[in-house]
Amino acid sequence: MTFTRWEDRSVIVTGGTRGIGHGIAELFARQGAAVLLTGRDGANARTVAGELSRATGGRVAGMGVDLRDPEAIEGMAAEAARLHGGIDVLCANAGIFPEKPLRDMTADDVDEVLDVNLRGGILAVRACLPAMERAGRGRIVLTSSITGPATGYAGWSHYGASKAGQVGFLRGAALELAPHGITVNAVLPGNVRTEGLVELGEEYLRGMTASIPLGRLGETSDIAHAVLFLASDEAAFITGQTLTVDGGQTLPESLDALAPPRPESLDALAPPRP
Ligand code: NAP
Repeated sequence: MTFTRWEDRSVIVTGGTRGIGHGIAELFARQGAAVLLTGRDGANARTVAGELSRATGGRVAGMGVDLRDPEAIEGMAAEAARLHGGIDVLCANAGIFPEKPLRDMTADDVDEVLDVNLRGGILAVRACLPAMERAGRGRIVLTSSITGPATGYAGWSHYGASKAGQVGFLRGAALELAPHGITVNAVLPGNVRTEGLVELGEEYLRGMTASIPLGRLGETSDIAHAVLFLASDEAAFITGQTLTVDGGQTLPESLDALAPPRPESLDALAPPRP
């Protein structure tokens, strides 16, 4: 039995400059894949790529690509093919999650979230298709969210719409691309400790942690490992699917359904571990 030879693979990670995308780019680089990571600012993306190359000993390039700009997205696919000889994996990960109550939401607020999260992702997939179709294989992994496909959160209705839209998109795309050996799947992260999440404030983080049965926020590596699997040869028979990675957050029917946290006093009584 042979496993994926990552050294032969070219991977694009949008929104790889920080957060979940950074974790994804790092894991692929550690496996030996050639990675092109993107963010809005080219100089920053190149700096982050240089740091990741040094930290992992891998091949990581960086590029400025604003996902609101269709031409820049085409340029991203062309650059990955030029640098790394093709495109095997697209991780369409970049996204924004500004809070905005529905009552105050403007048309521009809606456009911004849909343009980056939904339209940007769709255009990134389209841009990578010629290279994948030439190769007769490809892996597309979207970073969606539990918010929208599985849950809702007041203040993030436009965000939820964009993330549920990604899942609707992937089902049609998976059918269209299956004859070309291209799979399309998504991870649905719960609450993951990223720069973007930390910006939502201490109170948000505390409330979220309390609602996660496994008792902690997710780490970027938790999501990256799920993405790596869906991008691997071993996942060749999986397409059009979503994989929830949320520490069980979407399981309980109510707060009462959560097992109480283990009191610290019990730990104090427990015999010392060998
Ligand atoms: P983050 O820390 O805020 O990072 C967002 C990334 O997206 C950055 O690399 C940023 O790059 C890039 N980006 C933002 N706007 C962009 C644009 N217009 N064009 C191109 N790139 C852009 O966010 P995160 O928490 O890692 O979230 C990453 C993805 O996971 C998003 O799709 C988010 O919806 C999803 N998600 C996150 C969580 C969570 O708990 N963190 C949960 C569920 C889903 P630059 O700043 O360099 O431009």
